[in-house]
Formats: sequence, structure tokens, C-alpha cells
Amino acid sequence: MQEIRCSTCGAPIKFSPGEIVATCAYCGFTQVIETGKAFIFEHSLIVNEYKPDQVDDLIRNWMRSGFLKPGDMARTSKILEKTLLYLPFWLVPITATTSYKGVFERLTPPVVKEGKIEKKYNWLILARKATDFPTREYDVPLEGKVPYDFKKIEGFAKVLNSEIEKEEALGRAQQQIEESHRFLIKQDVDRVIEMKTEFDAGDAVYLHAPAWLIVYEYKGGRYNIWLDGATGTIIKGDIPAATFGLI
Ligand SMILES: [Zn+2]
Repeated sequence: MQEIRCSTCGAPIKFSPGEIVATCAYCGFTQVIETGKAFIFEHSLIVNEYKPDQVDDLIRNWMRSGFLKPGDMARTSKILEKTLLYLPFWLVPITATTSYKGVFERLTPPVVKEGKIEKKYNWLILARKATDFPTREYDVPLEGKVPYDFKKIEGFAKVLNSEIEKEEALGRAQQQIEESHRFLIKQDVDRVIEMKTEFDAGDAVYLHAPAWLIVYEYKGGRYNIWLDGATGTIIKGDIPAATFGLI
């Protein structure tokens, strides 16, 4: 951990190597670590709506529902860790237009087809380099978005700083959108001959959103659950394999 002084209130701001943007826990001021200058982009927050004991209830309910789960899961699992994280994201408003040409081979003779996909996105990029957070499975609840306010953040929560610059986030968004369009094109043609995507991106928003990371134990195994702190829904949860016939 390294430390800089908040240029607004003078409090120490701790950060780890690789972090680029840091937010002061005392006054909420967000700055670029390298320059100490104010972060000039829009910084938003989605607020956590659940207390730790309510999270327990949500987890037990989830364990009780769904036929894939072992029947004694809710009763015998032990919740070992419960951490509220505010994860940093870049939200990139972007329109992507892909023109393509390909061969539809399911007909004899095969036919050459051309097409176009145009879509408007608010593409979400997690601003951390290494994490197992399932971003693609996360439907960010944007209706709860407010301007960043450190007073709304629980004292026990961990606020993670950004390790990825805005430009890099835009690059990643473009790459991921292109992959997703390629997948869509493959529904229409069997072989892609040509594909070109043009992007029109607006200003990215820096956003902190709440996610609970829960670690639980079931019959000696450790499993993770990611829970959306704004909506209380399970983003992704590990389910132990049912051990049928073993007593
Ligand atoms: Zn400060």
C-alpha cells in the first residue's frame, strides 16, 4: 500500500500499485493518483440497500430455491465471509454499427449474404485488472445511479479504486462489442468473409456499484456467491454438486 494526501482535505489516501484513480474516504474527493489533480469526469454511485443480516436471508432463500441445489444446502451451509465491495466500473455509452458479408452454407449451393447490425449500448467495463467478478452476468441497475457521495457508503464497505484508464476502457468495450457482434453474425451466416465495425462513443461515466462477496462452506467445500447490493439478486453463485445416493 502507498499513500498520497487528499488535495482537498489533506487526509491520507491509501492505494495499491496499479491503481490510477483514487477516492478519499473522508471527503469523497476523487483524484488521479499520478497528478493529484481532480478527476474531471462524471463520477456516479449506486447505493447498497441491504444490511448484513438481510444479506443472510437473501442467501438462505437462494439456497432453498431451484432444483439444482442439494436439499440440505440452506440448512447446513455456513456463511464464512461477507464483504461489501464498491466496485469501480466505466460505463461507456456507445453505438456500434457492423457491416458484414458471409456465406450461408446450409443451402446447396451456398449463398453469399450481406447484412448490418446497429446497436446502442451502455457497455460496462470493470475497472480492475484481476478479479473473478462476473461482469457479463451483471445487469447494472442504472435506475439507482446518483452522483458519487461518500456519506452514503457504509463504514465497513471496501471501495476499490480504478486500475484502468478511460481510454483503455473504451478500447476494451469496442473489442467486446465486436466479439458479441461476431457471435450474432454467426447466427446469420456460417462463415464470415468480411466484417467491419464502426463506433460512436459518448463520454464514459466512472461508477461505483455495490456487490457482496459471500464465501460459504458446504460439507467441507468453500464456495462463492456474488450478490447485487442494489437489488438483492444473486449475480452468480457456486452450487455444490449434488451427491446422489451417497450417505
Ligand atoms: Zn479528502
